[in-house]
Amino acid sequence: MYLTEEQTAFVDSIRRMVERHIAPIAAEIDESDRFPEELVPVFGDMGLLQQWVPEEYGGPGGNLTLLCLAKHEIAKVSMACSILAGQNSIGMALPILHFGTEEQKRRFLPLSAKGRTLTAVAMSEPHCGSDVAAMDGISAFMVDTKTPGFKVGRNERKMGLGGVPNVQLFFENMRVPIENRLGEEGQGFKACMHILNLNRPTVAAASIGLGQGALDAAIAYAKERKAFGKAIASNQGLQWMIADMAIQLEAARALLFECTRQVDMGDFSQLSMMASMAKCFGSDVAMKVTTDAVQIFGGVGYLKDYPVERMMRDAKINQIWEGTNQIQRIVISRHLLGREA
Ligand SMILES: Cc1cc2nc3c(=O)[nH]c(=O)nc-3n(C[C@H](O)[C@H](O)[C@H](O)COP(=O)(O)OP(=O)(O)OC[C@H]3O[C@@H](n4cnc5c(N)ncnc54)[C@H](O)[C@@H]3O)c2cc1C
Repeated sequence: MYLTEEQTAFVDSIRRMVERHIAPIAAEIDESDRFPEELVPVFGDMGLLQQWVPEEYGGPGGNLTLLCLAKHEIAKVSMACSILAGQNSIGMALPILHFGTEEQKRRFLPLSAKGRTLTAVAMSEPHCGSDVAAMDGISAFMVDTKTPGFKVGRNERKMGLGGVPNVQLFFENMRVPIENRLGEEGQGFKACMHILNLNRPTVAAASIGLGQGALDAAIAYAKERKAFGKAIASNQGLQWMIADMAIQLEAARALLFECTRQVDMGDFSQLSMMASMAKCFGSDVAMKVTTDAVQIFGGVGYLKDYPVERMMRDAKINQIWEGTNQIQRIVISRHLLGREA
């Protein structure tokens, strides 16, 4: 993929940070499910938590392409850590930038720009799930976690993504001042969908990076591992598998960065369809590629001594959250056929 000089320098700086701070802990945080607190200042100092915050509010003034490049690079080694990049996007910077008043921007964006705050986003109710439109008529609010009534549920036990806390959030009998409402009353659903559309490409970026990490590991292993007196990479069966993995990843990357290019040029006309396509295809490809990587490793691929089993477990969530891939296909087909079809 072609990168400008500025983008190449950015990716190089991320790669160095990943080698130094993430590669040594990637397996450990998965195993222990420990949130890597020490990465917060590292990411914050590089502007990675707060990429979207414009320079006029003290932020790095990044864009979707840069954020996706960062997530892609980090996820090659740890998808869990890639989640932290742009962590303030969906829960803070994007909703405020797109729906906040000037007063809200001046109040909250400089806070986010410091690169030390973490936000959570509570969008769906467990009983609604995929059917988020069932919450129509809702309004969006920013909630300070010190507000009485705010409670955090237990850390869920998950198949993958060790080191990423996932909890239910409770807002019991809570009173939130009107100045914390984002956008017009009753327009919360529309706002959430727009922000989801802007964030879905980053899920694709993490997926494709994860898949690339698995492919790189599989290639290295296939060249080194010998069976029947020769490297397993010399078997055409595996060569074609590896070629197919690379084709799918390259195609997913092309789709993703076409989507981010349109957004960064300010063209949102195709956003919802393109974001769904990138998220759906990228995460399906990552699931297939990581599963094939485990296959290429054979028995040891199933063991925790190598990273590919972790990558395969981590890949699954991207087919589910931010709207399942069935829901993405509904979004895409509605664009093509119209709502009535
Ligand atoms: C680790 C983790 C973190 C999460 N983080 C957040 C978060 O930060 N904020 C948040 O708001 N939510 C979060 N979620 C919730 C997540 O977004 C939902 O799990 C997801 O949207 C799917 O909803 P559901 O689980 O209720 O599945 P359901 O809606 O019950 O769907 C079950 C199955 O039916 C399919 N299905 C449903 N409707 C249709 C249809 N019309 N056509 C075809 N197939 C259909 C789905 O694709 C799925 O395969 C998180 C979930 C997990 C596991």
